[in-house]
Amino acid sequence: MKEKGASWEKVAHHLVNDNASDVELADRLESTPQFVARVRADLGMAKFPRPLKPQMQPVAEVFAAHTVAVGDHLQWSGRTTRDGTPVFSNLETAYRVAFRLEHGQEPQGLVRVACTFPRCVRGAHLTDRVMREARREVPA
Ligand SMILES: [Zn+2]
Repeated sequence: MKEKGASWEKVAHHLVNDNASDVELADRLESTPQFVARVRADLGMAKFPRPLKPQMQPVAEVFAAHTVAVGDHLQWSGRTTRDGTPVFSNLETAYRVAFRLEHGQEPQGLVRVACTFPRCVRGAHLTDRVMREARREVPA
């Protein structure tokens, strides 16, 4: 049984010599994008075009690239709001990201700096509502 249009070998040959997108190669070889994608996978080649959602750089790396250690504290060198709040992305402050990286979970409520360094983004120096409430309950 033959595949419609180009054979596996032919598609493979074109993939190796001219790594065009699935759609483009399928069109050129009278094959289907699905078949080209399969041959590509058989060859152990990366998907092309890449999945719509690009592989994001790990958050921890992006975060680390925007911080500077100041003693035991961590200063944010990335974007800030007008009032100086460190901003990680359009969705999150650096505080929330730092907290999540440190604790492996989403902060509950507002994240506050618990040390003396202004706007410190060291995860261990941040608290969320749950932590503040827990501390309040500990007898002094
Ligand atoms: Zn600190």
